Amino acid sequence: MSKSVDEENTSARYPTATTVADFRANVAAVRARIDAAADRAGRDAASVRLLPVSKTVPTERLRIAIDSGLRLLGENKVQEAVRKHRETEDLDVSWAIIGHLQTNKARDVAAFAHEFQALDRLRVAEALDRRLQAAGRGLDVFVQVNTSAEDSKFGMPPAELSGFLKALPVYSSLRVRGLMTLAILTPDETRVRACFRVLRELRDRAKADDPDLIGDGELSMGMSGDYEIAVEEGATCVRVGQAIFGARALPDSYYWPEG
Ligand SMILES: *Cc1c(COP(=O)(O)O)cnc(C)c1O
Repeated sequence: MSKSVDEENTSARYPTATTVADFRANVAAVRARIDAAADRAGRDAASVRLLPVSKTVPTERLRIAIDSGLRLLGENKVQEAVRKHRETEDLDVSWAIIGHLQTNKARDVAAFAHEFQALDRLRVAEALDRRLQAAGRGLDVFVQVNTSAEDSKFGMPPAELSGFLKALPVYSSLRVRGLMTLAILTPDETRVRACFRVLRELRDRAKADDPDLIGDGELSMGMSGDYEIAVEEGATCVRVGQAIFGARALPDSYYWPEG
């Protein structure tokens, strides 16, 4: 089967990093773009964290990335993260789970994750808290909001956020740090930017309502294709995979099934 034009463009744009020097150069290039975007928006670049996303990258290449200095890696699927965690236990690296979680995988996440960025249901909060309490651990969490309405089935509708935040404090092992979103997948910058704005406005409103319920009010938004726009709109964490590791073989629709 021949590749689509989109796939060809993606692999040309994001060559595969295979050496420590490749990873250092890619991270430096992304960092420079983050800093420039922060500058344009009159923001402090130091307030933006870069979370490298390593999904689908095989462990041999992960070890090189970790060698280059990466200490926190994002994974979208729990099973893959569990395996990679086990295969790199000799190294100094932590894991952020950034994808949809089913309650039957809560135990795995509670056992090793450093943060969880896709909290969108109380049943998941309850399952995580139960496992975390048993393990004597805490977990940083971001509440995922669906800012593109009809375009994704993950994340809660904006109208439900306020009630959700009010219900979270009983799960005392969860430390709420802020909100997370995936913008709509489209080349139309205006629509992408609108998603990021929705998240920022929700954060501002939540902070005004009750600042104790939203931690530092962080905004995790922006990926390889749109992180500069996200930083301009207030992101404090950008989740970047392909621009650091190289193009993925599978299309985005594999990770984010459309509603
Ligand atoms: C894969 C993924 C990213 C990173 O996407 P890239 O295109 O590789 O930068 C960000 N956020 C989530 C939730 C992801 O699953």
